[in-house]
Amino acid sequence: MTIAIYPGSFDPFTNGHLDVARRASRLFDKLIIGVYATPEKKLMFSQDERVAMARAAVASLKNVEVRPYSGLTTEFAKESGVQVIVRGLRVSADFEFEFDLAMMTAKLSPSLEMVCLMASPQYQFLSSSLLKEVARLGGQVDDWVPPAVARALKKKVGTK
Ligand code: ADP
Repeated sequence: MTIAIYPGSFDPFTNGHLDVARRASRLFDKLIIGVYATPEKKLMFSQDERVAMARAAVASLKNVEVRPYSGLTTEFAKESGVQVIVRGLRVSADFEFEFDLAMMTAKLSPSLEMVCLMASPQYQFLSSSLLKEVARLGGQVDDWVPPAVARALKKKVGTK
């Protein structure tokens, strides 16, 4: 049985994240979406809120589970019996960071493999930070996030 983890801040969970989770769930027996505490970043949503939004988004994916964690992803992976780390790769932004992450992961935990899924064309330019900016300025974000996230974003920034 191959268990994979898809770790991230997910502040908030977008349709791009959902697309990666859905595709990864077809590749592995079980997928854990690991919602990192991310103490070093100033985030819009608490860890509990991020977990709840991710859970609502993947509710129909039977082999996907959402779990909060803190500390090293490699340690959380080891405790959870995970063999593979999944990450998403957008054409413009992600390669160098994800490459460094893969090298560090290999150093910290040589038995863990990192698998990057290319972002689908329609989500290449979608990022949580851009979405938050648009939402703060009163723009529509409904096309880019699951319904529960759209509601939570509107509530957070105080728009209808
Ligand atoms: P982190 O804080 O770890 O970068 P994010 O929540 O921003 O967490 O992203 C988690 C993972 O999802 C990363 O691998 C990131 O590259 C990937 N990702 C982010 N947005 C998209 C998208 N639109 N399509 C595919 N993958 C994405």
